[in-house]
Amino acid sequence: MDLLIKGGTVVTAQEMVRADVGIEGGKVVEVASHIDATAAKKVVDASGKYVMPGAIDAHTHFKMPFMGAYTTDDFLTGTRSAAAGGVTCIIDFALQSKGGSLKQALETWKGMAEGNAIIDYAFHIAITDCTPSILDEIKDMVQEGVTSFKFFMAYKGSLMVDDAALFESLRVTSECGALGAVHAENGFIIDVLQKEAVARGNVAPKYHALTRPPEAEGEATRRAISLAKMAGAPLLVVHVSAKEAVRAIEEARMAGQIVYGETCPQYLGIIDASNYEEPDFGGAKYVCSPPLRTKDHPPVLWDALRFGFLQEVSSDHCSFDFNGQKRLGKDDFRAIPNGCPGVETTLGVLHNEGVNKGRISLNQLVALVSTNSAKIYGLYPQKGTIAVGSDADIVIFDPDKELVVSQKIMHHAVDYTPFEGYSVKGWPVMTISRGEIIYEDGEVKGAPGRGKFVPRKPINTKLLLA
Ligand SMILES: [Zn+2]
Repeated sequence: MDLLIKGGTVVTAQEMVRADVGIEGGKVVEVASHIDATAAKKVVDASGKYVMPGAIDAHTHFKMPFMGAYTTDDFLTGTRSAAAGGVTCIIDFALQSKGGSLKQALETWKGMAEGNAIIDYAFHIAITDCTPSILDEIKDMVQEGVTSFKFFMAYKGSLMVDDAALFESLRVTSECGALGAVHAENGFIIDVLQKEAVARGNVAPKYHALTRPPEAEGEATRRAISLAKMAGAPLLVVHVSAKEAVRAIEEARMAGQIVYGETCPQYLGIIDASNYEEPDFGGAKYVCSPPLRTKDHPPVLWDALRFGFLQEVSSDHCSFDFNGQKRLGKDDFRAIPNGCPGVETTLGVLHNEGVNKGRISLNQLVALVSTNSAKIYGLYPQKGTIAVGSDADIVIFDPDKELVVSQKIMHHAVDYTPFEGYSVKGWPVMTISRGEIIYEDGEVKGAPGRGKFVPRKPINTKLLLA
């Protein structure tokens, strides 16, 4: 046995039990109330701690091209930050370029990850230019292990696809065993509101939120759900932020349609639309799309997480430096690059805000940050649980560790965290990837390039209904 985790409390999406975990060849080989330590090459004492499946962050943008530059965190610093946050697998978005093929997108993103990633990675492909040959290519990508495709209903004039393209694509993804996902905001309405705001001289960061109203998200979410229903396709709505969108998903699910929803920690009430008022252009730090909402939205999202209307929480880590990149928009909020960092903080923040405050159970925490993503995206049971035969991707979480989230302790490369000053009780203290300790007590030990591309299986919607 290569590694034995002794004395901890194993927490999965289903159970919570005092157990030892034996690891060999990168896989879990035994889970039992007592495993003899004499044959183990290394023993980790996990007493007083939770032993949980490593988090799966299904929504990152590492080294994403933007205005001739890239997001600050690449696959090295991004996965370093991920490892320190208890994340053992990411699913990043490969972006199809205009006129480019899906294969090109996948090869480009694989090239950026290879030799750099510290943890395992998979890819969605974002389809931005939907031609008949691209529709044909979807099944080839499924064979390559890319089984989810994202479509933007926002960003008119750049990434946005129209309803016909979305409808046709959803028919194809469904036929190929893939999942269609949408960024659901009405790009047409946002475009009108943005132009009006700027014409009136309303250029400060807060107008980013005011020109992307919750109704624009609710409308697009409802429309995507209707298109998916007509296409006979399952659908996933990424980064749900508005109660209007939650209601749309809730109604569809209650009516028996397979619609999944993701939300992110930045929408859960720790920060909100009032942060856009921070002085000295500080509001730009929180410019992401959809925007942070007013205080009436987060309680609805929490209920949706607790009752199963939203199934997973990922970071949407899309990091732009405040100095140098965000400041590009000081005279026009439309030029502020959209996105916030968060891959390192999701697990600890969700535990504190969710479990410590009685909003979700520990089992639900594991489901939301790991197991459900594995099931939805075709990684289960290789990842997303602690069971014999699964990858030994494990986070050891100390529920008593108190810390204040701050830029000083982050492992990312970007120059701020949106959760600066947030106090938590409970934080990951060790991360194990395929049996190797890659993070321990503040220090990332995993070597760049050790992370591997994980081909995903076709989507099986029978794994996760509620
Ligand atoms: Zn995103």
